[in-house]
Amino acid sequence: VKKQTTKSEVCVFSQHMQENLLRHIELKEGLTKAIERNELHMAFQPVINSSTGNVSFCEALLRWTLNGKSVSPVEFIPAAEQHGMIHPIGSWVLHKACELAANWHFDSSVALSVNVSVAQIMRGELKATVKSALQESGFPAQQLHLEITESIFAEDINFVLEQIQALQSLGVKISVDDFGTGFSSLALLQSLSADIVKIDKSFIQSIEQGGKPIIQAMQYMANELGYHVVAEGVETHEQARVLSEMGISCLQGFYFSKPMKTKELADWHKCFIGEE
Ligand code: C2E
Ligand code: MG
Ligand code: MG
Ligand code: MG
Repeated sequence: VKKQTTKSEVCVFSQHMQENLLRHIELKEGLTKAIERNELHMAFQPVINSSTGNVSFCEALLRWTLNGKSVSPVEFIPAAEQHGMIHPIGSWVLHKACELAANWHFDSSVALSVNVSVAQIMRGELKATVKSALQESGFPAQQLHLEITESIFAEDINFVLEQIQALQSLGVKISVDDFGTGFSSLALLQSLSADIVKIDKSFIQSIEQGGKPIIQAMQYMANELGYHVVAEGVETHEQARVLSEMGISCLQGFYFSKPMKTKELADWHKCFIGEE
């Protein structure tokens, strides 16, 4: 589509832009109905403790099926954030994930990790939402982790620290997700006093290409600051071996398991334990 402007410049509204816009509208409208239409469900990916051979926690990952097709959270979470839908959806996620985890039959000591968006923290209502999810499900606060990305550091730091402390006062743990990808201010990592650092998968996947020293440095720093370290995106035996040897025993990735529905998770766990 070409449009002639008054100054006789030519504006090109490309087909690509039009497709993006239509997709954007489709997602925006779809998201407002996704909960009531029962289109959302939770998947869980286990995180293994390689030194004990146990599952230490499972990460809850949101799934959305729109018109029979699965939409990636990489696409719809930013859209939900942009249109404010992340608040009802984030609340649904917390309630649903806690409810499902409270009924995990395989091992009641396995913790649950839930992703939360920066916008949810900045609204100042997350503590109340988490509290209600815990109360309604009966899931123990001590076994709940909330994953926050480093982009939280771009916000008003005093407000952020206040919110984090309020959440921690409930007994839940805070994880810094995708560590190393954002602008990680190391000083802020210190003042945040969260509990867990998840080293981003891009670093894990660079192990075979000489990426080990960087992981070692992140691990050293995180440990010195009192954080537990989790490695994300472990895909190969070699990566798992190197990480375990380095003393990083909490491992998550396709090498162990993909994210699964609860039924599948219980079956997977049976096999996993059976193989020990
Ligand atoms: P994340 O929190 O860093 O989650 C890990 C992502 O890496 C998941 O993608 C997972 O399926 C994928 N993954 C796990 N193991 C491997 C591996 O070995 N290799 C590779 N290449 N990838 C692996 P997913 O489920 O597509 O989620 C993408 C992102 O969407 C998440 O990244 C998180 O930032 C966001 N997200 C997902 N669910 C929620 C949610 O309920 N709330 C919010 N706020 N964000 C969510
Ligand atoms: Mg995460
Ligand atoms: Mg991550
Ligand atoms: Mg991510």
